[in-house]
Amino acid sequence: MLDFNRICEINVNSVYYFSMNSERLQVAIFGDGPSGLSSACELAQNGHEVHLIAPDTKKFAHSVYTTDRILPVDIAEAFFPKNERFILPYLRVITSNNTDFRVTAQGSYFMVDYPKMVEKVKIELEQMPNVFFSILPPSILKDIKIKDSKDEAVVIIDGQTLYFNAIIDATGVHARIDRQVNKNREKDYLVEYVYGATVRGKLENPEMILVIGPAAGTSWVNPNVEDENYIDVVFSAYGPKSQYNKFLNSAKPRLDKLISFIAEKPGVNVYSKKPENTYAGFIRAQTTKKPNTYHVFTVGEAAGMAKPSSGDSMQRAIMSGRILYESLKKGQSPSEFYKKWNRKWPGQKLYFAGTIVRLSYQEKGQLGGVLDAISEWIKNPNSDLIEQVEKYVVDGKLNPGLVAKILTTPKVASLLFLSAAKKLELSFKDPVLPDHLPLPKI
Ligand SMILES: Cc1cc2nc3c(=O)[nH]c(=O)nc-3n(C[C@H](O)[C@H](O)[C@H](O)COP(=O)(O)OP(=O)(O)OC[C@H]3O[C@@H](n4cnc5c(N)ncnc54)[C@H](O)[C@@H]3O)c2cc1C
Repeated sequence: MLDFNRICEINVNSVYYFSMNSERLQVAIFGDGPSGLSSACELAQNGHEVHLIAPDTKKFAHSVYTTDRILPVDIAEAFFPKNERFILPYLRVITSNNTDFRVTAQGSYFMVDYPKMVEKVKIELEQMPNVFFSILPPSILKDIKIKDSKDEAVVIIDGQTLYFNAIIDATGVHARIDRQVNKNREKDYLVEYVYGATVRGKLENPEMILVIGPAAGTSWVNPNVEDENYIDVVFSAYGPKSQYNKFLNSAKPRLDKLISFIAEKPGVNVYSKKPENTYAGFIRAQTTKKPNTYHVFTVGEAAGMAKPSSGDSMQRAIMSGRILYESLKKGQSPSEFYKKWNRKWPGQKLYFAGTIVRLSYQEKGQLGGVLDAISEWIKNPNSDLIEQVEKYVVDGKLNPGLVAKILTTPKVASLLFLSAAKKLELSFKDPVLPDHLPLPKI
């Protein structure tokens, strides 16, 4: 039974505090998404005391795709067990100017049923004696107070004071815990907007379809993992968080346009163009500022660690939870953890270059961003980047599944960034948030 009293039971009237090097850490984790759950798993499996606090809400009513192209698959094994992965052997690329080709993805893209995956991990955690799982109503969560001083980390829930060695903010893109204690938290940042629907239909081949064009952003079509008579149609675009609502206002007609576009393509059978359900959200695309907290660690999307890049966010969120455990074990501070993440996962800022490029293309009404930019270089015989890019070209066509790898090449990233910034006439400070950003045009 998941209940709030369990967390309070052991702590009522008791005030204790352990040093970070304690054999048995007591850690509060806010958020039960992939990053919170992966830190919880690591801590609990290593004998520490975990208090997992999450709201009574559900999310992700659709299948989520992810990729094993950057991380070895075994890293995410606990979350994506082999027998629950639905592998898509092909990646097909369709653009609105009649390009339509297929590349072998060699099992790089796999679909997972997100709610089931998360539920499974939660059930395993719940059965562990050192895990205290509290599902709280938003009214209680809203009033939680966190105090983070040099000497102690305190959580005040419903009038009760609890002391922890570390507090983990894994609350995702709306991160609230860290903002309560970290004055450096920015109010606005770049995000990838996502809007999608499940429609009745079927793909003739088991493939992931990348669609560039009709919805004014990158779009994906894939089979639904739950029901073979449905497909998921999703599109995304970049912009500042503050313009998310504006994006939503134009999302429905774009989605309709995308569904109609895809319905005309061979191999795609759309039985009904009417979406059965729609979902929307955003993914943080910009690096966070360095934390200035003592015991509050921000992880996953809350920390800008789960960046959008063709389905990698989930993997990155899980990975960040694991790296956080490594830091906690060594008694490292939040900023040391942050540095560790950046060292282990180089190229944080380079992802940002890709985002800016995409924005510049959005503004010009040209879509595909990074893909288009790289295709231009391929066409240019004088480009000294040809050699680097050549290995990503299959049968004369760019393999977009590997674009993220290209982006982690510093040279490519800085070039992308500079040319895009010039086109957009943007000027930057660090951390970077342009004061005007284009919303994608159709
Ligand atoms: C529509 C959409 C589609 C996506 N599709 C994909 C995809 O196909 N592939 C992919 O890799 N990634 C995808 N992503 C991105 C991916 O879902 C996220 O990057 C990833 O879930 C981040 O994990 P997280 O644990 O850091 O945060 P989240 O998964 O956001 O988890 C945060 C959790 O914290 C909880 N919470 C919030 N506030 C509080 C609070 N105050 N106290 C306690 N708990 C709180 C939330 O309920 C939530 O469960 C998608 C995102 C969206 C929005």
